[in-house]
Amino acid sequence: MQYAIFWGLLLGTFFLMEGAAWCIHRYVMHGFMWFWHKEHHQPPDRFLEKNDYFTLLFSIPSVLTLILGYEVAWLWFLKPIGYGILLYGLFYFVFHDLIVHRRIKFRFVAKNRYLRRIIRAHQAHHRCKDRKGAEAFGFLYALPRYDPED
Ligand SMILES: [Zn+2]
Ligand SMILES: [Zn+2]
Repeated sequence: MQYAIFWGLLLGTFFLMEGAAWCIHRYVMHGFMWFWHKEHHQPPDRFLEKNDYFTLLFSIPSVLTLILGYEVAWLWFLKPIGYGILLYGLFYFVFHDLIVHRRIKFRFVAKNRYLRRIIRAHQAHHRCKDRKGAEAFGFLYALPRYDPED
């Protein structure tokens, strides 16, 4: 039973993070924090970009919830929440930074339909170089219209 609650909270947090990420990307990164995100919509000219500050910033809630979850007995439920945020962060890094943007060069061709759909959606997001007018702000989920044709 305890395992069920633990995994329920962990996976629930993981999927809720997609909603949070969508809102933050849509309204904060393409909003008043555009000055950090703008460089990510330009052709890359250096290894680290201002956009990486967001990655650092988003690791804070994960670290804090994990520390509190482990240190304070009655805050045990923060453990699976912290792991859920961490899992989403790892997914984001592997999908966004490695698979889509290839910040580290490696051989990989996506064959999986779901993976190809979310890759195409993020590529469509990058066709817009401006703060306004971009589409597909999510990472884990993309609309069926981004499905590959074949
Ligand atoms: Zn963007
Ligand atoms: Zn991107």
